[in-house]
Amino acid sequence: MMTTPCSELIQEYFHTGTLANLPTQLYINGQWQAAEGDAKLAIDDPSSAKTFTHVSAAQVSDVELAISAANQAFKQVWKPAKGSARAAILNKAAALLEQKADLFSVVEALDSGKPLAEAQGDVSSAIATLRYYAGSADKLEGNSYPLGQGNFSFSSKEPCGVTAHIIPWNFPLSTTIRGVAPALAAGCTAVVKPAETTPLTALMMADIFHAAGLPDGVYNVIPGLGKEAGAALVNHKDVHHITFTGSVATGIGVMQAAAKNINSVTLELGGKSPILALADCDLEKTAEGVLWAIFYNAGQICSAGSRLVVDKSIHKALVALIVEKTKQLTPAHALENPNYGAINSAQQLNKIDGFIKRAKERGIQTACGGHKLETKSGGWFYAPTIMDDVPMDDELVQEEIFGPVLTVQVVDGLDEAIEAANCTNFALAAGVYSQNIDQALAAAQGIDSGQVTVNNYWAGGIEVPFGGNKHSGIGREKGLVALDNYCTTKAITLAF
Ligand code: ADP
Repeated sequence: MMTTPCSELIQEYFHTGTLANLPTQLYINGQWQAAEGDAKLAIDDPSSAKTFTHVSAAQVSDVELAISAANQAFKQVWKPAKGSARAAILNKAAALLEQKADLFSVVEALDSGKPLAEAQGDVSSAIATLRYYAGSADKLEGNSYPLGQGNFSFSSKEPCGVTAHIIPWNFPLSTTIRGVAPALAAGCTAVVKPAETTPLTALMMADIFHAAGLPDGVYNVIPGLGKEAGAALVNHKDVHHITFTGSVATGIGVMQAAAKNINSVTLELGGKSPILALADCDLEKTAEGVLWAIFYNAGQICSAGSRLVVDKSIHKALVALIVEKTKQLTPAHALENPNYGAINSAQQLNKIDGFIKRAKERGIQTACGGHKLETKSGGWFYAPTIMDDVPMDDELVQEEIFGPVLTVQVVDGLDEAIEAANCTNFALAAGVYSQNIDQALAAAQGIDSGQVTVNNYWAGGIEVPFGGNKHSGIGREKGLVALDNYCTTKAITLAF
């Protein structure tokens, strides 16, 4: 397969204002097709605020077609397929994506506004995810049950059917593959509804899966509005599991829709994840960890470390060090590969700015940033921001901002640190920085969250289960446990 290197693609984009051969239509039953009535979404480059392409916006009738195709494919080809055959296709898809990694990275950076190196990391993670679940496809074993003489009882894992995948705009490709790879490995078919602003790489995966030999109808992509295409998908009676990543408010609606059809859901919702800097932490290592926990992808990550819970004995020194490091962040167009990227939309930029303006009015102290940024490329940028010594009941502590804003809470000792960590409705991720293993483990045990990392905020990988408690969600993705989202257990008992 001929591949075009990043440098040529970047040149093409800066020269023409777009890229050739981007997908523009829906992908249903192995075919590219326009939406009913030719409705379209404008796709913007957040680094320049300019529209660079348009994509069809699925209507209710298009969603119906996609679900019907996924249902047929489930019954006729994908459920009956051997696990090893599914594995071969997923492995082939990983290899093909690897060959096209440059193209996918450039498109992802362009569409989301994240720096090219971050997009390259997302593509690598999607490749690893495809391989990980390919390895599981022929190992979905059941059990046997000891009923005694005259009986024989065993169970098998069966795919649950058509699965819906509702994707957010912050990790468009890796979130798609995080749900679709285990679903396909288990024998389910998929209908993917990407976010309005970032549908391109999920659509491009259609060509990869097709070339890898995936039968028509197993992977369908219907970009469109959440309230139209998304709602039609999650309310449909022929969908049997919904994997949703997005806001709490929308997640509640998705769960209500699922309840009407008694469908299971995996919800990965918001976060306000704390990083505990205990009195004995290594200051340099902690500052570096906090910097990237909040400013990677300009803070647009559900599991971003958005609250620094710091012991009062090191508060001033640690904040000064993080502020110092923050000055090294230089925003620029995503394809210039800066160390700090754009905000995905004007709407999100204004939402972030609103939080900070209100905080300033309440007299909260700004340690750095706190305003929109002008850059050479134009676009939607917000200064990396640190808000210092914020009270526990403040909106900056309690609400998810989903942007580059670190909120600092000052505490006295481990017990107060744990109390502060658990003071919100969210419970997604947490980090602990300490050189004392007993203190670190006590903190990890005391924090209510789906995952805790110690002395390296982003530690982990596809092997490690991921998800939240409280308003951060239900269920786990990643790891082998995610396969359970897409399987039902059938017990068969014989008497003789
Ligand atoms: P955000 O506010 O960050 O855009 P949302 O939770 O609204 O987060 O969006 C996440 C995903 O959910 C997007 O793909 C969006 O289109 C989709 N979505 C929005 N509203 C609905 C809905 N009512 N039903 C199903 N999906 C929806």
